[in-house]
Amino acid sequence: MSSSWKELHGQLPESIDPIQLAERGAHLTGTLPLRSMPRISQGSLDGSGDVLVDLSFERSVGEKIFLMHGDLHVRLRVSCQRCLEAMDLNLEASPWLILMKAGERLAAHEDDTDVLVVDKPLSLSTLVEDELLLALPMVPMHEPNRCPARSYVVRDGHIGQEEKNPFAVLRKMKKTR
Ligand SMILES: [Zn+2]
Repeated sequence: MSSSWKELHGQLPESIDPIQLAERGAHLTGTLPLRSMPRISQGSLDGSGDVLVDLSFERSVGEKIFLMHGDLHVRLRVSCQRCLEAMDLNLEASPWLILMKAGERLAAHEDDTDVLVVDKPLSLSTLVEDELLLALPMVPMHEPNRCPARSYVVRDGHIGQEEKNPFAVLRKMKKTR
């Protein structure tokens, strides 16, 4: 690692030592290929695209606290779990982590902050993937007013156009039971 990392755009390193970066006040911006993140790309229909990475590493003034924070963004092509049609999912994460060396103890006031324990250099794509996974919705779906399934219901085994008001559909179901 060299000090030219302080402002490194475009070409991101494969592995990082977050605490060293924080000591130096490094700022990493650039893109990582989605295919370097198998746990996320397997949920994507095309498995392609880039993850935008903008991460700052800091040492807090006066205290020996190391921080990593920033923004991550990727646009995933996924299936809507309501209508099963393809949709774009904008996945964003804004991690804010305290970096600790293995064996260090948390001060009381750091209790409610996420902590990343660093005992060896980390894969940047794994770190980014971990943070994006936390932001991934359990069930990706279109916005209700943009989902084609909204105006269709299954009736007598056929899919037909129905009332757009879901309560009207519910009333109808009640009557027939
Ligand atoms: Zn949908």
